[in-house]
Amino acid sequence: MLALVAEDSRTQAYQLKSLLESNGFEVIVAVDGDEALLRARERRPDVVISDIVMPKRDGYSLCRALKDDAATADVPVMLVTSLGEPLDVVRALAAGADNFVTKPYDEHQLVGRVKRTVARKNAVPDSHVTVAGERFNITAGREQMLDVLVSALEDMSVRNAELEASRVQLTLATSRRDEVLHVVSHELRGPLGVLVMGADVFGMDVRSGATPAKQQGFADRVVRQAQRMLTIVDDLLDISRIDAGELRVVPVPADLARVVREAIDRITPSLQEKHTIELRSPHSLPAEIDVDRIEQVIANLLTNAIKYSPAGCVITVTVEQQGDMGSVSVRDSGIGIPETAVPRLFERYFRAPGSEKAAKGIGLGLYVTKRLVESHGGTVSVRTSVGEGSTFSFVLPLASCAAPAAP
Ligand code: ADP
Repeated sequence: MLALVAEDSRTQAYQLKSLLESNGFEVIVAVDGDEALLRARERRPDVVISDIVMPKRDGYSLCRALKDDAATADVPVMLVTSLGEPLDVVRALAAGADNFVTKPYDEHQLVGRVKRTVARKNAVPDSHVTVAGERFNITAGREQMLDVLVSALEDMSVRNAELEASRVQLTLATSRRDEVLHVVSHELRGPLGVLVMGADVFGMDVRSGATPAKQQGFADRVVRQAQRMLTIVDDLLDISRIDAGELRVVPVPADLARVVREAIDRITPSLQEKHTIELRSPHSLPAEIDVDRIEQVIANLLTNAIKYSPAGCVITVTVEQQGDMGSVSVRDSGIGIPETAVPRLFERYFRAPGSEKAAKGIGLGLYVTKRLVESHGGTVSVRTSVGEGSTFSFVLPLASCAAPAAP
């Protein structure tokens, strides 16, 4: 039995050829539509299996040309279609195709279908079909069958789209997992190394009676690295809560101005007199907020202002009431952010070009910050200019309308 495979991808042609050969077919391959037509006229194969998208002449045109030529009109043609596109099948029917092969194909089914198509050519026409081992007598008219076919194809294409959507989600989940593994292995390894070495040297210094100032220096380094690790781990935990839809805020009546003051007080010891923080705030600004989470937001913005501005800079924190909203902004005169990077700043793992030189980071803080502010019904924004500095702000309703953060 002779099969003609028309397929421009050499790999796919080779796969199909060896599959058919191992099932007793002799196979000739054509790499475009014109060549396929030529070979079909030369050798009159028992079946043509043709891809749709091919150079020179596509599968529909090949099929039409074969059916229009009396010498090849009764050679069965099977077109290789993708079920994601029901129109392919309808176009193939219109071109006179005898059957379809859907990609990606199951080898067993494909061989069965090719054999059935060849056998049907030689059989006395009847209305019996065998599906999954069961024999049916079909009495439906041509139009009725077409209608059923098109509906089935439409259903399948919807199902295909759903499958594709879950495949995309799965890929996203896998790549997120990989990102986390990357962060954990690379970003935590560095500080952990410094921590182990720092503690070791510290121990030696203590034993050898080094000056208290030197000992203090090492102890400070160890604490700084441990804190960095803690921030990374906390951010990663928040990320997995966000992904699971479990990042919840619990707003309680509190004083926003006071929360800002406390966040500044907490961060001040780590400034080592390299930066100055100036606060402009009313004495009190009553609000309904999740105190720990808003303190985390302010700490994130302050840490960034410190990280991305050189020693000696002043950081200005402003707290204001704007109608029924409370606003907090953190202004620095640091490196600033290129305009092109601004739209992506609040994406997870995003770092603006040039920031690696200024400070270590993994690009999670702003993503978590945005989610936390949004969970309070608020918004974050940034104004920035390269070389001049940045102002990160958030506003939130003073009366709570908290909602869980969507993943
Ligand atoms: P990280 O600082 O760990 O990289 P963030 O999510 O806090 O992560 O910030 C994301 C990116 O935004 C930073 O890498 C940096 O490029 C930029 N960025 C944030 N704050 C500032 C700032 N105050 N000045 C300049 N760049 C900033």
